[in-house]
Amino acid sequence: MSDTKSFVDLVVVGGGPGGYTAAFLAADRGMSVVLIDDAPRPGGVCLFRGCMPSKALLHAAKVLADAREASMWGLSFDGLSIDVDRLRGWKNEVVRKLTSGLSHLSEQRKISFSQGHAEFLDAQTVQVTSREASKENETIRFKNAIVATGSRPSMPKSFQLDDPRVLDSTAALELEKIPASLLVVGGGYIGLELGTVYAALGTKVTVVELSKSLLPGADADLVRVLARRIDQMVDGVCLETSVTELIPQSGGLDAVLEGSGGDIRTQRFDQVLVAVGRVPNSFVPGLEHTLVERDSRDFIVVDPHRRTAEPSIFAIGDVVGEPMLAHKAFAEARVAVDVLCGGSAEFDSQTIPAVVFTDPEVAWCGLTEGEAITEGRKISVAKFPWGASGRALTLNRPEGLTKLIIEPESERILGVGVVGVGAGELISEAVVAVEMGISVSDLKRLIHPHPTLSETLMEAADVFFGESSHVYRPKRP
Ligand code: FAD
Repeated sequence: MSDTKSFVDLVVVGGGPGGYTAAFLAADRGMSVVLIDDAPRPGGVCLFRGCMPSKALLHAAKVLADAREASMWGLSFDGLSIDVDRLRGWKNEVVRKLTSGLSHLSEQRKISFSQGHAEFLDAQTVQVTSREASKENETIRFKNAIVATGSRPSMPKSFQLDDPRVLDSTAALELEKIPASLLVVGGGYIGLELGTVYAALGTKVTVVELSKSLLPGADADLVRVLARRIDQMVDGVCLETSVTELIPQSGGLDAVLEGSGGDIRTQRFDQVLVAVGRVPNSFVPGLEHTLVERDSRDFIVVDPHRRTAEPSIFAIGDVVGEPMLAHKAFAEARVAVDVLCGGSAEFDSQTIPAVVFTDPEVAWCGLTEGEAITEGRKISVAKFPWGASGRALTLNRPEGLTKLIIEPESERILGVGVVGVGAGELISEAVVAVEMGISVSDLKRLIHPHPTLSETLMEAADVFFGESSHVYRPKRP
C-alpha cells in the first residue's frame, strides 16, 4: 500500500551530520523538507555509532589514565573501580540526549521526519518503506534530493564468520563485555581509539597494522609520540603484519598473523575488532533509475557544488568520498543547500582537519610533511617540543609536539601538525591560519594567552625565525 504525499522542495536521504545539517539549513531558508532515515531519530553514524559514543568512552579512558597517573605527584585514588553497566548506560544517555535534541530541532523547523528505508522511483520521486509491516509506504515527490546515506564498516570476506566474537566498530561501541584479550585489526584512527578504550578498561589489546606505522597518512614524528604511549598501554603492536585468517575455537578466536617477511604465527584472542576502513552506502535502491554515477571505489560522483550527474539530485558526506569525517559532511551540506537556494558555493576547502582522539591526541590540517616529500615540494618545518611548554609541564604531559609546514619563499603556513593532550582543540587555530593563508610572521606576532598549549603554535613560529624564548635553536643561515 502506498500513500502519496504532496510535492516537497527537498528530500534528504540519511539523517547523519550531512543529512540533518542540510535539512535544517534548507528549512531555515524556507524550503519544505522531508528527512528520511532508517533510525527513529536523526543522528546517523556519528551520533548513534561513531563520533559521539566513541568520544564518551575515550573521555572515560582518559579519566582512568589520569587517576592512575596522579599517584606520581601525590594524589591517589585508591579503590578505583569500573562499573561497565553504568559506563555503558552513561554513554547511551549521551547518545539519547543528542539524538533527541536533533529530533526536537527538526520538529521546531517543521521538517517532516520519515523513518524508513528510502528507494528512488525516479529522479523526482522517492518511496519510504517502514520496518513496521503495519505502516504504509510513503511516496514523496520532490523538486530536489540530497543523498547523505553515509558509510558502513568494511568487513573483509575472510572475517565474515557470523561469530559474535568478531566485532566491527558498531559492536565494539556497545561495550557488551570487557574481554580479557582483544585483537584490533587495523591501526587507523578507529582501531586506535576503540583499542585504547578497551585497554584502559583492562583488556589485553594487540594491534595489528599492515603498514610500517600506525595511523598511515599522518606524519611519522607525530605518530611516534602516540606510539610510545600506546606501547605502554597495550600488550603488543605488530606493524607490517596482516591477519590472514580467523579460526573460531571454543575458547576464543585463533588469529593467523603473517609478517612482511613471511613469518606466520597463530595467537588466540577472546574477541577481534575489525577496523580496516569504511565503505560508502552508495547503492541506494533505485538510484539506477537516475543519472547518478559512482566512481571505481563506489563513491557517488559529484561536482564542486555537490551536484550529481542527475541535475535534481545532490550528494554529500561519506557517500561522496574521503575524508569520511563528520565535519566534511557538515560543510558539504551547507554548500549543497546554498546552491539549491540559488547561490554559487563550491566545496574547495584548503584544509579539512583530522583529529585522532587517542591520549595523546594527534591532529593535523593542510599539507603534511609526508605529502610534501612525496610531491617533491620544497618546505621548511618548524617544530616546538612540548617539553619547553610550561603549560604542558603543569599537566605532566610534556611529550607533545607542534610543527608548522611552511613555504620557504612566501613564509606562508601550508600545514600544521600537533600531537599532545588537547591537540584536537588546538588544531582549529591552525585551520584558520592555513585557510586564510597567513604567514609564519603573522602567527609569531599574535599574542597567545599564557600559560596555554596554544602558545606552542606561536612558539613554533618563533622557532622558524630562530627566536623562540623557550627553545634555543638559531636560524640556519
Ligand atoms: P552517516 O552519519 O553515515 O549517516 C547516514 C545515515 O543514512 C545513516 O543513519 C543510515 O542508516 C542512513 N541511510 C543509509 N541508507 C539509507 C536509505 N536508503 N534510507 C534511509 N536511510 C538510509 N568523524 C569525525 O569527524 N570525528 C570523529 O571523531 C569520528 N569518530 C568516528 C568514530 C567511529 C567509531 C566511526 C565509525 C566513525 C567516526 N567518524 C568520525 C566518522 C563520522 O561518523 C562520519 O564521517 C559521519 O557520520 C558521516 O556523516 P554522513 O552524514 O555522511 O552519514
